[in-house]
Amino acid sequence: MKNTTSIFRKPLETAFSGALAYLESLDRAPAATTADLRTLRERLDRPLTPQGMPPEQVITELMQDVEGGILGSPGGRFFAWVVGGALPAALAADWMSSAWDQNAALYACAPAAAVVEEIVGFWMKGLLGLPSAASFALTTGSQMAHATCLAAARHALLQRRNWDVERKGLFGAPPIRILAGGHQHGSVVRAVRLLGLGLDHVISVESDIASRLLPEALQKALEQSPDAPTIILLQAGDINTGGFDRFEQIVPLAKKHGAWVHVDGAIGLWAAASPRYRHQTLGIEGCDSWVTDGHKWLNTPYDCGFAFVVEPEAHRASMSHRAAYLTHDDDARDPMDWNPEWSRRARGFAAYAALRQLGREGIAALVERCGLHARELVAGIGALPGAEIMWKPIINLGMVRFLDPRPGATEEDHHRRTDQVIAAIAADGEAFFAGTTWRGRRCMRISVSNWMTDEDDVARTIATVKRVLAANQE
Ligand SMILES: *Cc1c(COP(=O)(O)O)cnc(C)c1O
Repeated sequence: MKNTTSIFRKPLETAFSGALAYLESLDRAPAATTADLRTLRERLDRPLTPQGMPPEQVITELMQDVEGGILGSPGGRFFAWVVGGALPAALAADWMSSAWDQNAALYACAPAAAVVEEIVGFWMKGLLGLPSAASFALTTGSQMAHATCLAAARHALLQRRNWDVERKGLFGAPPIRILAGGHQHGSVVRAVRLLGLGLDHVISVESDIASRLLPEALQKALEQSPDAPTIILLQAGDINTGGFDRFEQIVPLAKKHGAWVHVDGAIGLWAAASPRYRHQTLGIEGCDSWVTDGHKWLNTPYDCGFAFVVEPEAHRASMSHRAAYLTHDDDARDPMDWNPEWSRRARGFAAYAALRQLGREGIAALVERCGLHARELVAGIGALPGAEIMWKPIINLGMVRFLDPRPGATEEDHHRRTDQVIAAIAADGEAFFAGTTWRGRRCMRISVSNWMTDEDDVARTIATVKRVLAANQE
């Protein structure tokens, strides 16, 4: 027998103490990075030796070399993009996923992982108010969840027109029209490209200031070609405004024309888990496919997205694969029947752990707390001299900008000032934000999706922005 104790213990103990030291430093450490690109390249470009090296030395040197190159995104004062941190149970389960190192393609090669995914899918449908008969997939993120859902949509819409897209492909198929609001996340658009649906077939439908599609405009667009196979792309949580489409009004219009309604809920589908925010998702259960992320608002480590599809047959027909060398199980659920992947990480463990750590009320509380802190940050920063509130949060996303105080300052000057303040906050290190361009204006986006963010973080952040504004007067 191998002496596995001595092989694993040192590198894992090194990683364990390094991880704890890192996580426990988050409250004090700068939220921005301190090492630049050149430094990181120089440090990490160590010789790849012929003989290799002891595993614990690899880990020790890795931790030294990345010093200053790790963003403080797992911490409570990181408000850029929509990232979230990792809940303790989710992080620990993620470590176990690596230790167990299961190939979660099939029940046969990862039995417990397959069952955990089954249960996570079932829990998620309940939490998010989705139809209990919907099929699901645990994907790498919303990007591949979009690809999964839209592949099912493509299959279903063309099958109804007697076209087997899996066999015949898209050459000669009835063209699928895609109706979407003015603003879609790039990952949805990329899924459209990957599936060969073609960007030229995406037709922009007028939407309002919160990026919600106007039902009258949609009705008009549908009536222009009443029988064309159609996908309608909706959003639950626009990346700038956090806006939700009016599902209740749109679903009946879509049904009348046999259109497939797909929802990008990467951020905002979680609103359905909270009594306070649930009304935003009214009617969402009538849509055909839904996407959300675990690695954002649920605070699992990365590699966790969810796809849900109302027609399990279409979903399975577009994804499943059978091969003679694989062992399929008739009773169990084989993840690869539902996923655009073959060998895959047993990502269900982390999601399972996150859901269990929080529980139903804990998930609602997380969503509501993030919403509250987003409102406090927008109000607090927006009230500082020279700041202007651009968007008050609907959920956990808001926007402010910073005005150039000089008399006669132009829009260009305000854009520059806003970017300058964002950079100065990052350089200060106490908090971290990113910019966005919204309706032609540079804004600082305020996005709160970390389970750790608390009142103290909010107060420290507002004080930081105040200090930075005072120190960077023009
Ligand atoms: C992050 C995000 C995506 C993409 O999700 P990934 O998990 O990064 O693939 C899609 N849509 C919205 C609205 C997002 O915020």
